[in-house]
Parts: sequence; structure tokens; C-alpha cells
Amino acid sequence: MNVQLPDGSIREVPENATIADVAASIGKRLAKDAIAGKIDGKVVDTSTPVHDGAKIEIVTAKTEDGIDTIRHSTAHLMAMAVQELFPGTQVTIGPVIENGFYYDFGTDRPFAEDDLRRIEEKMQEIVKRDLPVKREVWSREEAIATFEKLGETYKVDIIKGIPGDEPLSVYRQGEWFDLCRGPHVPSTGKLGAFRLMSVAGAYWRGDSRNAMLQRIYGTAWADKEQLEAYVKQIEEAKARDHRKLGKELDLFHFHPFAPGAAFWTPKGTTIYQTLSQWMRDLTKDGGYVEIKTPLLFNKGLWEISGHWGKYKENMFLVYNNETEEHDFSMKPMNCPSHHLYYGMQRHSYRDLPLRLHTQDVLHRNEATGSLSGLTRVRQFAQDDAHIYCMESQVPDEVRRFVALLDHVYNAVGLEYTAKFATRPEQRIGDDELWDRAEGLLKSALDSLGRPYELKPGDGAFYGPKIDFEVSDSLGRKWQLGTIQLDYNAPERFDLTYVGEDNAPHRPAVLHRAIYGSFERFIAILIEHFAGAFPFWLAPVQVAVLPLSEKFAEYAENVGQQIRAAGIRVEVDQSNEKLGAKIRQAQLQKVPFMLVVGEKEASSGTVSLRKRTGGDQPTLTIEELIGTAKQLIASRALSL
Ligand SMILES: [Zn+2]
Ligand SMILES: [Zn+2]
Repeated sequence: MNVQLPDGSIREVPENATIADVAASIGKRLAKDAIAGKIDGKVVDTSTPVHDGAKIEIVTAKTEDGIDTIRHSTAHLMAMAVQELFPGTQVTIGPVIENGFYYDFGTDRPFAEDDLRRIEEKMQEIVKRDLPVKREVWSREEAIATFEKLGETYKVDIIKGIPGDEPLSVYRQGEWFDLCRGPHVPSTGKLGAFRLMSVAGAYWRGDSRNAMLQRIYGTAWADKEQLEAYVKQIEEAKARDHRKLGKELDLFHFHPFAPGAAFWTPKGTTIYQTLSQWMRDLTKDGGYVEIKTPLLFNKGLWEISGHWGKYKENMFLVYNNETEEHDFSMKPMNCPSHHLYYGMQRHSYRDLPLRLHTQDVLHRNEATGSLSGLTRVRQFAQDDAHIYCMESQVPDEVRRFVALLDHVYNAVGLEYTAKFATRPEQRIGDDELWDRAEGLLKSALDSLGRPYELKPGDGAFYGPKIDFEVSDSLGRKWQLGTIQLDYNAPERFDLTYVGEDNAPHRPAVLHRAIYGSFERFIAILIEHFAGAFPFWLAPVQVAVLPLSEKFAEYAENVGQQIRAAGIRVEVDQSNEKLGAKIRQAQLQKVPFMLVVGEKEASSGTVSLRKRTGGDQPTLTIEELIGTAKQLIASRALSL
């Protein structure tokens, strides 16, 4: 019989040939590398027979299907190792997740860090045994009886929950077996590049009324190099964690009396305000006006916006002693107050687009358990804006926004991908409206001439949107900027403008943000730069380090001149030795260190030592100020 390979070629194979046979007929190398196969697009074991006319692909560790197969097979490997080491532990489920897998075990004994190393050793031992992994088909009754006999009550539960009465597949490696759909690698020897990362409690079926299981997380890769690169990245991410660096660099604090709301230190405040002012300048140049609206609103506003019905549990309600009710709320977002503001005046088509920028404080009632550093907070501010325009102006507004966003992300060295999210299943408005809305955003995106991803069904219920996902210096992805077209708000708030025809029309509303929230953006920047901010953003830009007490006065004088030029400078007048002063400034990641001693004091100069090392030129103070001002004006990423 014949099968077809991905390059379109036809290959003759004997009756009953399996994926492994097809791989072997192509070459020895491929036969060795094959960890699964695809028959007509479906991933299967290498032992699966092929049929006449089938489209066949050999899956190796180089493909996404291959790596998923490795990860899931490694979860089985771990479960086998755990049951060999800790008899009586029950198996449950072990799915593939990003970068790895986990497996939940039923046991009274919590696993410790030491246990993970022991389990890893046992896993490597089973890899060496190179046990064939074989698929068996059991009847449902047989499966239930077998797992019941073993005392595997969770597995019995799982089997009973599988609908229909088709036979079930079980994968066996050596004496050990697990109920599983598969596919799996042909033998345990195909595995090996893995590491167990952590252990955590997890409720059976995710329900807190059920028993607490022990979940072990692991990572698995095609080879040792990939594994090591990943582990290194994880360690680097830990070292850069903004909660850790926030303390070390003295940027912000939290107090239990204000969960999810940061105390910003002078240094942290400097970063916050620098970003804030930058965005104010950029939006002003981009034709926006800045406004401020109240923080506290009567429920009347939230009833119009729809939040009172759908979003109330996420809002902080405020007691009103005149009505003796909680009928006020802190605003969780700016949009409704901007719409209210727009509606307070009459607008002509000549005034459009109207671009309202706000950086007001917002509050959202997140569960205390979900709060995390600056990335999940209850109090935050956004670089928020709403654009009110005629529909015909939407494409141009989207282009202007993307240009602004491009400028900001480039300046901080964040690469991004645009994602165009279209109509979701739950939505308001008829298809004709959505066709028009999506057409407007799409034409704007197309005219930019840069690639974008399509996310069908991912739009907001009130309109399509473009989300911007950035990659930081560790290659991690973050969803940041967004621009959304809203057809709901103008209706709810009865927003109008007077057109050329002297009749009232509905404006289009665009919601947009570039940083997203300042808090989260700063957290991402801290980790992206590992705390070593570019010169313009560094909370302390220059540290003056006198060689000894003798040069204290000269150092102070240098500091004053630099400060007068608008540069953020600190003079280290401690009694420490120069080496210790340099170390301290280096730890604080101060971009420029100026060493001043006899030579510098007598010639009115400074010795410049950069955070990044390299030459240590002697500069006059004017030259130093010139260099610093140049770095600030250009927002240079390197020193
Ligand atoms: Zn499985
Ligand atoms: Zn909005």
C-alpha cells in the first residue's frame, strides 16, 4: 500500500506497516529520532499501523507535537518514579503545560525539595532501563476493577466520569501503567532532559471541598542544551523579580494595612513621575488634552455604564451617610467618567477627534489572595485615553496611536506583536455593525504594513480591538497596550456630535492605553532592565564619590553644579573607602559614578566610571553635564 509524506512524495510500505516502519524506510536517523507520528493530521504512537492513502508525518522532538509528547511522557515517568519510591501514593492526572507538565498525587505526605531530587534520580534510572511504552486497550469494567484493586480511587473516579462505553487505553512501561489517551514516546530511553521545579497543594478537580493533592511541576525539553537554557532563564527571572529588586533598589513597599496598594519611595516615585511626564508630553504633542475626573461616583453612573449590574463585586463601594447606603463607588476605570464629561458639552464635527487623556487613580477590589507585587494590585493608574471621533476618522486615529505606541516601546527596547481580536460569541450589535467596525480597524492595521496576528472571537463584547503583546529581554511575553473600538458606550451615554448636516450623530469611541497600568509597566521595566535603568529613567543618574574626606567640599560643589543642570545626583559623603562607595553605587545600578580626588579637585574635573565598565575618562564638569543631557534628551538605551 502507499502513504504520502509531507513533501508530497508517495512511498510504498508493506501491509500492517506502522509509523516506526515508515520512519525506518525513510532513514536510520529518522527511525531513531521518531517519538510519535501523525496520520492524517492526528498525533499517534510510533507503533500505530498506517492505512493505505494515509498522509504521514514523522514527529521528532524538533516539533511542537514532539515536545508535547515528551512532556506528557515525562509526567508518566515521574508518576512511575513516585509510586516506586512512595508506595501507596495515588495517581490522578498529569497534563502538559507551558514549558513542561505537572502531575497531581493523592498522598498524606507532603513532598519536600529533597524528595524532588530523589524522584529525579529515580526517573533517570527508569530512563536508563529504556522500557518500551506500550498501548493496551481495556474494557471499562476491566479498568475499573483493576484500579479499584490497586486502591486508586481517583482513577476509578476519572474512568466513571468518561462518557460513552468505548474501550479505554492504558499505557504500560514495565510493570507500571496509567490510564491515558496518549500518544507517548516509544520507550523511556527517549526521555531525559527534564527537571522537577516545584511542589504545591492542589484540590482534586480544583474544588476546595475536595481533598488536597500534591502537585509536582516539572519542565522537559528535547535535549540537555534546551533544558539548561530554560533553567538559566528561570534563574535569571528570579534574580530580576521586581519584588526582590524593588527592595534591593529601594523603589516601593507594601503594608498589610493597604493590601495591593504600593508605597512609592523617593526613587520609585521618580521613576513613576518620569514615565508619567513623558506620557503627558507625548500625548500633548499627539493632540490629546489632559483632564481629571472625580474618583468617587454615585451608582447612577455605574447603572448607565452597566458596571453596577455586572462588575459590582470588583468595585470598592462607599457608605453614604445621607442615604445610609453603600451607593457610591471608587472608580475602577476612567471610561464612564470620560463619557459623562463628553456629554456635558455640545460637540460639532469640527471639534473631532476629541482625545481625552487621564492618569487618575483607580481601584479594583481584587481578592487579597490574588495580589502579587506590582503586577496584581488594587490601586493603580493607567495612561488612559478615550478618543471621540467620526467613524471616518477611526483608521487615522488607529494609525496615530500605533505610531505613538511604537515610539514608546522602541524607546524602552520592548519588541511587540499586534493581535487583532474580532467579534466574540457574546456581543452586542448586529453583524453589519461588526463588519464595519472590524473593517475600520483592519484597514488601519493593513496600512501600517507590519505583520499582525488574528485572534478570532477575542474582541470585547462592545467592539473589536487590537492588543499589543511585548517581549522583554528574557523573551517573556506581556500583554500591554490596547486600542478598542466601542459601539456600546455612545448608545448608553447618548453621546452625540452635530454633523455637517446640522443633525446629531453618534461619535465612535476608542479606548486606548500604551503602558497599561503604571504599576505593572514599572514591574515589567524593572525585570526587563534587571534594575539597570537607562540614564533618563534611572532614579539616581550620577553618584559623586570623593576619594576621602579631604575632597568632601569639592564633591559637594560638583554635585551642586550637576543638580543645577537638572540631573539627578547623589554625593556619597560616608566614611567608607572608595572601593566600598563604588560597590554601593554599582549595587544601586547608578549609571554614572564620578570619582574625585587630588587630581580632579586641582583641575576642576571628574573621573567618569560607568555602571557598564570600560574606559574611565577625565572630563570637565561641563563635558559631563553635556554627556548626561545628551543621554536624557535621546532617551538612549545604552550609556
Ligand atoms: Zn498520559
Ligand atoms: Zn476606556
